[in-house]
Amino acid sequence: MAFIPYSKQAITQADIDAVTDVLRSDFVTQGPAITDFETAFAKRHGAEHAIALSNATAALHIACLAMGVGPGSRVWTSPNSFAASANCALYCGASVDFVDIEPATRNMSTSELEAKLQRAQAEGALPDVVIPVDFSGLPCDLADIRALADRYGFKILEDASHATGASYQGEPVGSGQAHATVFSFHAVKIVTTAEGGMVTTNDPELAKNIALLRSHGISRDPDQLERESEGGWYYEQIDLGYNFRITDVQAALGLSQLKRIDTMQAERIARADRYDKILAELPLKLPVRIADRVSAWHLYVIELADSARCDRAALFAALREAEIGANMHYIPIHTHPYYERLGFKRGDFPASVEYYEHAVTIPLFPAMTDAEQDRVAEVIRGAVL
Ligand SMILES: *Cc1c(COP(=O)(O)O)cnc(C)c1O
Repeated sequence: MAFIPYSKQAITQADIDAVTDVLRSDFVTQGPAITDFETAFAKRHGAEHAIALSNATAALHIACLAMGVGPGSRVWTSPNSFAASANCALYCGASVDFVDIEPATRNMSTSELEAKLQRAQAEGALPDVVIPVDFSGLPCDLADIRALADRYGFKILEDASHATGASYQGEPVGSGQAHATVFSFHAVKIVTTAEGGMVTTNDPELAKNIALLRSHGISRDPDQLERESEGGWYYEQIDLGYNFRITDVQAALGLSQLKRIDTMQAERIARADRYDKILAELPLKLPVRIADRVSAWHLYVIELADSARCDRAALFAALREAEIGANMHYIPIHTHPYYERLGFKRGDFPASVEYYEHAVTIPLFPAMTDAEQDRVAEVIRGAVL
């Protein structure tokens, strides 16, 4: 029986043609395909600016820097995420802390955030940046978090690595409810460039700074130069940047994939709806639906109810035994050895640990078949009943 992965890229002949066209062109990097990808991505996500980068981790890192995060800054994120959502703050020399999740959505709890902000204000330790994560592709409570940001004076850097194409209250994720939004194009994500990332923002200063930090902090833009130009060759390094550029080869793949985002999303939604039906009778907690949000359905995560016959480890093992690529999203960030050495304890964010102990990610990708979904459901049924 063929192995069913938890996620898989969908590459078409059109994608391959777009990549080979770039390989035959004059530019394989720093050429026009990058701008074309950025322009199309900004348009699809309703953003004024989009800056493509080598990956989402780099995007989170320099978006933090561009927001002024540095030594002495405080950054908060969700413990139910990939480590990069927190590591980016540490790269900048800032301190990091977490806000526990809301069990229903598995996203950062807005009420926990508000309570923590009240305590932090009393202690004079308000965060500079909060990084909510659109876990599994389900947008976080952007309007409520924005209201808190305006009241308490922090910036929102939304980690939408799972949420390319998702929408919140009728607006695309990335269209400006957060101060900046980061997307990932790793092969398992919604749209892929093999490795890649994007930041969208409506803040022109932030966009300019991110673009500068992406390429060594070096500029040729007459508006940015600090001195008189010395000739046609002239450029200046005006900040300490990195090489976090994407290539034209990758951007061409991304642009080609982006043209199919609506059909790929419809396929994911159809798969999720079908899982809801075929798993409905089992002792499981299925992903929540929220009326004002359209999830990108990067992940379909089930949680075992107390009445299930097996525990999480046994269900995971049964799926793997049956050649099904079960996965785990996420081991709470604060429980990793590195974070425990920073002083965090397992019990600090109990909802994220409770969720972790019951959750399993099951396969979901656009090309999945009914037969593959039925096979997954059959193995789950055999384990939990
Ligand atoms: C994948 C992912 C990242 C990192 O993305 P890369 O493009 O692999 O660097 C960051 N945050 C979350 C939530 C992710 O899922």
